[in-house]
Amino acid sequence: MSTEHLMGVYNRAPLEVDRGQGARLWAKDGTEYLDCVMGISTNALGHANPILVQAVKDQAEKLWHVSNIFKIPGQEALADALCDKSFADVVFFTNSGTEAVECALKTARRHHVANGQPERIDIYGFDGSFHGRTYGAINAAANPSYTEGFGPKMEGFHQLVWGDKEALEAAFRNPTTCAVILEPVQGEGGCRATPDEDLRWMRQMADETGVLIIFDEVQCGMGRTGKLWAHEWAGMTPDIMAVAKALGGGFPIGACLATAHAAKGMTVGVHGSTFGGNPLAMAVGGAAFGEISKPETLAHVNEIAGYLKQQLHGLAQRFPDIIVDVRGKGLLLGVKLVPNNREFMGWARDTQQLLVAGGGDNCVRILPPLNLTLEEAREAVERFEKTCEVARGKLAA
Ligand SMILES: *Cc1c(COP(=O)(O)O)cnc(C)c1O
Repeated sequence: MSTEHLMGVYNRAPLEVDRGQGARLWAKDGTEYLDCVMGISTNALGHANPILVQAVKDQAEKLWHVSNIFKIPGQEALADALCDKSFADVVFFTNSGTEAVECALKTARRHHVANGQPERIDIYGFDGSFHGRTYGAINAAANPSYTEGFGPKMEGFHQLVWGDKEALEAAFRNPTTCAVILEPVQGEGGCRATPDEDLRWMRQMADETGVLIIFDEVQCGMGRTGKLWAHEWAGMTPDIMAVAKALGGGFPIGACLATAHAAKGMTVGVHGSTFGGNPLAMAVGGAAFGEISKPETLAHVNEIAGYLKQQLHGLAQRFPDIIVDVRGKGLLLGVKLVPNNREFMGWARDTQQLLVAGGGDNCVRILPPLNLTLEEAREAVERFEKTCEVARGKLAA
């Protein structure tokens, strides 16, 4: 066995995973790790969560897959739950985040066609954003390292500088603008959060111009920031939203949520998916969403996030030679570093058995399960602190 027959697109850490339980991950050689990556904020309820394990087992013995040519009760139930707890009226289920984004982009363009304005095709994204790896998603994020070498840029996609309000206002006022797409809190880009007042201003601009707002909450949604949806902090809502990652608690599920108004062009035959919303996925998604959307889960996130943020700010003061900035929202925490973030992740893993994720702008991201205990949070901080000491030693050497 080796990686010889795997397409060489990943830079994998030298860690052969074996099993997990809660916030712990064990390698094949028996080493135990504290996992603050959690499948990049996907296993929000921890590894091998008993409620999700039971949901998989029960459904696996009953029915896995049919097709969307049939009515799937689990799909209707999860769509009801999602709409009940969001701005949305309708949902389309996918298997991944990028497919949810793809559906969001298609929904936005079809909206204007249904409105008799087919010329409105322009979609604006922001630098530092990440929307997945399909063609629509890479064009929407327009990060050159993901688009270069993949043929011509798709027509109608534009990138704005994050925080450039003037350019954004011009984009809203452009008569051929279809939508703007953004992550309320950027994930891969380094945990930058768009200020609440800017999100509210965007809502006003969108209402005035008919431009649709697409939020990509694939990473920052599902309780990660301490509210079920990250945009709730701003007291505004988008027209369309892509969700995935934690929605299945580690099982591949995505969803595109929309208002009935935004989705008016999504009529019979214009979109579809073989696997999207199959009974097995819906059983797990229903169980995960039920747990994550509980008020006590969200209250716990805020408690643990408050502790971690305070502790990390303390570390930033004591290690100004290592830590540049602590940012992010809730348990989507980014620490911008002086030493190379990839090297730092390696030191954390190999000397402290602490797993953290990388991120843009030389950040590491701390993405623990939402049900991390205070005890485990203390342990994470201790291990992070010791990694800072290791880093200090390396920089001095
Ligand atoms: C992970 C991610 C995606 C892509 O999800 P996949 O399931 O990998 O396709 C899209 N948007 C954001 C914000 C993400 O974090």
